[in-house]
Amino acid sequence: MHDAIVVGLGPAGSAAAYTLASRGLDVIAFDKETFPRYKSCGGCISTKIERILDFDISRVYEDTVYGATFTYKSGRTTDIMSDRPVGHNVMRDRFDALLVSKAGEAGSKIVEGCRITELRDEGSHVVAKCGTGQTYRARFLVGADGSSGLVGREVFGLNPRECAVSVTAEIPYRKEELNVSGRLFIDFGSIPFGYGWIFPKKNFLSVGMAGDAAKVGGRVKDYFNAFVSSHEVLKGLKIKEKIGWTVPIFYNGAAPSVKGRVILAGDTGHLVDPFIGEGIYYAIRTGEAAANTVAECVDMGKSDLGAYQEWLSKEIYPEFRAAEKLSDLVYNHPRLWYSILEKDPLVMHKFYDVIRGEDNCDSFYNSIYQSVTSRPWKILRRWVESKFLAS
Ligand SMILES: Cc1cc2nc3c(=O)[nH]c(=O)nc-3n(C[C@H](O)[C@H](O)[C@H](O)COP(=O)(O)OP(=O)(O)OC[C@H]3O[C@@H](n4cnc5c(N)ncnc54)[C@H](O)[C@@H]3O)c2cc1C
Repeated sequence: MHDAIVVGLGPAGSAAAYTLASRGLDVIAFDKETFPRYKSCGGCISTKIERILDFDISRVYEDTVYGATFTYKSGRTTDIMSDRPVGHNVMRDRFDALLVSKAGEAGSKIVEGCRITELRDEGSHVVAKCGTGQTYRARFLVGADGSSGLVGREVFGLNPRECAVSVTAEIPYRKEELNVSGRLFIDFGSIPFGYGWIFPKKNFLSVGMAGDAAKVGGRVKDYFNAFVSSHEVLKGLKIKEKIGWTVPIFYNGAAPSVKGRVILAGDTGHLVDPFIGEGIYYAIRTGEAAANTVAECVDMGKSDLGAYQEWLSKEIYPEFRAAEKLSDLVYNHPRLWYSILEKDPLVMHKFYDVIRGEDNCDSFYNSIYQSVTSRPWKILRRWVESKFLAS
């Protein structure tokens, strides 16, 4: 009987296993893959991640991001650069492998190449069965098995179809031939309710496009193809493999992340920022918080994991609700949003502070909303101008 089983060793599971083991618990953590493994992702982590990890991850940084070059439908370029870092770009295979190794060093038993296929909450403990037929028992189970993961689906009944769909590709490039370092490339307006991106790494450009599944209507590959063939930075570069993945949509706190002795962290619990799809930071943060709740229950001989649900309601949901309002504003009116950025780059500088964790999304949304509603004529002018400027 272990204290805890962790299912999945992405950022959420690794953070949970690391925290549990660091607190002296007996933890066994499984992943169906063997690390390093590929994960379809932009791989941009915000600088606020450094504040929640107690070890250094800078050795896997491939580039430091100071801002972005924005486009509207691949045209109307606007550079908005800061003098301070906003984030760092990583390749997920190296980043995730580093987190897994830290969980192992802290004392977690790591089992790679082992898919968990069945789960049972027996009341006094949980049982997890792996693909090889072996069963494991523990007092608690942390579900961290990613987007449309088994734990979220089977134990909590979450719907994997409520997601954004994406297509990504890693495009090899030569740094000496393409000067793209220090920035992201973000495109609005080319896909319904979403955006396109190019995130430069050392040897690859991570290129992708994501949009709300219901609104994209099965055409995500078409939008992606149109984006890569029209974007200036990608001209002449060859794409070999395209990969589809999903980003779960926030349930607005309507679905619980705690059930009996099972607790959800990261994508499997739909705990992803609904505006920009930032999920790595929230996976780590919720993984750590879930693990702390489990550790307190083990220490005190309790079984009620409700403290985690309260923590989510207080610390995470308000931010996500504000991000959701922002995403409605921006993705329903991408041209208007873009013309605001063009005329008033300070807006994006404020948002960089939100990404850095120095301001919160709610106050950012309120400031945008107030400026839109208090000066409607100005916004209307931008809207009209943007129509004439549009290519
Ligand atoms: C196209 C795309 C671009 C993105 N870009 C960014 C970005 O730039 N920045 C950012 O912050 N976020 C980004 N995200 C979101 C981010 O990738 C996720 O939020 C993050 O990976 C969530 O971490 P996780 O640990 O919850 O899940 P994952 O990273 O998906 O890890 C889950 C792990 O569980 C394992 N697993 C699954 N099922 C089982 C099973 N049954 N048994 C055992 N193991 C199992 C998997 O192998 C995997 O290793 C992006 C997402 C997508 C799809």
